[in-house]
This record gives sequence, C-alpha cells and structure tokens, in this order.
Amino acid sequence: MPLPFENELDDLRQQSLLRRLREVQSQPGTIMDYAGRRLINFSSNDYLGLAGEPFLREAAKQAIDTYGVGATASRLVCGTLTPHLLLEQQLAEFKRAEAALSFSSGYAAALGTLNALAGKKDVIILDKLAHASLIDGARLSGAALRVFPHNDVEKLESHLQWAREEHPYARVVVVTESVFSMDGDRAPLAEIVQIKDRYGALLLLDEAHAVGVIGPNGRGLAERLGVSGRIDIQMGTLSKALGVSGGYICGRRALIDWLINRARSFVYTTAPPAALAAAATAALEFLESAAGEARRKRLWENLKMLAAGLPPGLTPAKLQSAIVPVMLGEENAALEASRLFFERGFFIPAIRYPTVARGTARLRLTLSAAHLPEQIQALTKALWNLG
Ligand SMILES: *Cc1c(COP(=O)(O)O)cnc(C)c1O
Repeated sequence: MPLPFENELDDLRQQSLLRRLREVQSQPGTIMDYAGRRLINFSSNDYLGLAGEPFLREAAKQAIDTYGVGATASRLVCGTLTPHLLLEQQLAEFKRAEAALSFSSGYAAALGTLNALAGKKDVIILDKLAHASLIDGARLSGAALRVFPHNDVEKLESHLQWAREEHPYARVVVVTESVFSMDGDRAPLAEIVQIKDRYGALLLLDEAHAVGVIGPNGRGLAERLGVSGRIDIQMGTLSKALGVSGGYICGRRALIDWLINRARSFVYTTAPPAALAAAATAALEFLESAAGEARRKRLWENLKMLAAGLPPGLTPAKLQSAIVPVMLGEENAALEASRLFFERGFFIPAIRYPTVARGTARLRLTLSAAHLPEQIQALTKALWNLG
C-alpha cells in the first residue's frame, strides 16, 4: 500500500521542489568533495572558516577528555557543566549583556524564547522575511500575530498602534533579524529600536548572520549601531560564523532567569555536549582577539573583491553581509543555474519555495574569510558566463 503522502512527493518532484540530502565527504573549508567531484564551496555559513580550525577541535577534545561525550541530563537536572557556564559568561560579555543562556540550537532558542515571552493574550509582530524558527516560535506561543512587509517601519508602527488600541494590556514583542538569511540585507535597526521604545514593546533581534561578520570584533549590528543596550532579547547562533553548534539568548538577568524556568526547549531537553560549549567559548575568544579581527577584515576584503567583479543586475547593488543572493525567479531556472555551476566546479545550491516566496528562487552565495582570491575570481568569471 502506498503511503498517503506519496502523491504529494510526486507533485513536489514535478514542480522542481523536491529536496534530497547530499553526502559531503570532506572537512569544512572552501574545497568540498561531493558526488565524486572536488568543488569550490560557496554555500556554507562558516563565514570565518572556523569550523575546521585546529584550536576549536582542540578545545572540544579537551572538554571530552574532562567531561565525557554526553551531558547525561537536562541543564536543570545534572547537565549543567562548567563549560556551559563559562560559555554563558563569555557570551554575556561578548554581547555586553547582563546574562546569557545557551540552547541546543538557534531553532530551539527561538522556539523556547518566544513561547516563554508571549501567550494567548499577547501580540508578536514579525518582519515578513523572519526565519522559520521565529515564525514557528511565534505560532506556537498562541499570541496574536502580525507581519509587516520586509523592513517596512511605517507598517510596523501601524501594527504597534493597532496592538496598543486593541490589546492595551498585552505584552507586545517585535521580532526581526539584523541580517536576513536569504537576502543578505540588513534591518533598519536604529529606527526599529526607536519605534518599539515609543510603544513600550520588547524587541527580539536575531543576529544569526551578523555575529562574526558585522560590528567591532563581530559583536553584531546592534553593537555596530550603538543600540545593544536597547535590544531586549539578543538572539544568535553558535553554528554560523562561530563554526560550532547551538543557539543563545542574551539580555537582562531577569530575562535569562525567566527562560531558565519557562523556555520549554531549554527545560525539556538534554544539555548540549560540553565539547560544543568549550569549542564555542574558544571561538568567541578568537573573535575578541587581534587575529579574530584580522580574520573578519579578510572576509570584508573578499566581499569587496567579489562585489567589484559581479555582473550588474543579478545581485544587490551593495553587499551588506556575507550572503549574496543571485536572483533567478523560477524554481527551474535556479536549479538549472546550480547544475551549471556544479559542472564548472562550484557548489552553490538553489534556494526555492518554501524557504523563499514562490517565483523568487535564487542561488544563495556565501563568502568566507577562507576563500582565496583565485577562487573568487573563478566565481565571478562563471557568473558573467551564466546562461
Ligand atoms: C540558522 C538560523 C537560525 C537557526 O539556528 P541553528 O543554530 O542553525 O538552529 C535562526 N535564525 C536565523 C536567522 C538563522 O539563519
């Protein structure tokens, strides 16, 4: 008997929307072994090339030797180990916040935090392009949801007005990202901070793609704009520029205490392995060092080089992050372009519905500090010859 969703799988295949897993057979880095080919990888979120760094491996190995592999229980039982607390101290200091809490993933941080902060009587207002983890967290909370068009502060303000009139006693949480994951552009954060303050709303800012990339020592966009102290809930992930795995929230001590008690994705799950916490701490220490700052500058030099070589029209006029979308429109066109790049020795995946809206399929190029000038030149040449 066929399973009930087999027809739907066929539909996905016919619409060029079927996804499958790919087996990568190499270390993290700019060279990737896949499908019997050696490719230049322009798809990872390892923006600083940290995932394979010997000093991160060493930190993880040492923690395994001291604490074992599994954490054996949830954080609230006996799973809180010294490396977790050291990581949280380091995170709070890095984000210039009173306190921090780490989660198993950024996804878990979003889900648990939005649920703990808002309930049925409350209101959550999200940017249209907010990450799936934020949307899922907002939905699960049961709060009334409002979505504003991407980066449209006027519409955000009218939602805030509505919330204050219709739900005068509600807690109102505004949710946005500093760098948007599929477009690579930035939120008008200074304006958003002013508006949310005027309406007494809380702001959750997800800095997943800004940490390590933007701001002094890669502290993020809020720090770059000098508004860190006004972001109520600073969220991020350890799995992108930091090269490890896990998510975090930074903010006031009372916020963190509340999450320890109420964030279900924190309470009801086994603590992440000590090795990950230790490696993430080492990654943060690196960002704060002169070598870390040099690595971040290298990334921006690479971005400048890429921007100078890009054909006009395909990509945004100005690069605002390490994410460069190459807009192609139809799902098929994006798949075809991705195949073409594969044949020419590059790995750049097509991004399609439901990750992005229908008809806005694209290639999502990401750059790393580890890319070599000749790899970037080869890429720009291939982009000029696209189609
Ligand atoms: C990747 C990402 C997340 C999820 O983080 P993980 O650690 O991968 O679970 C959350 N928000 C944004 C904007 C992201 O890009």
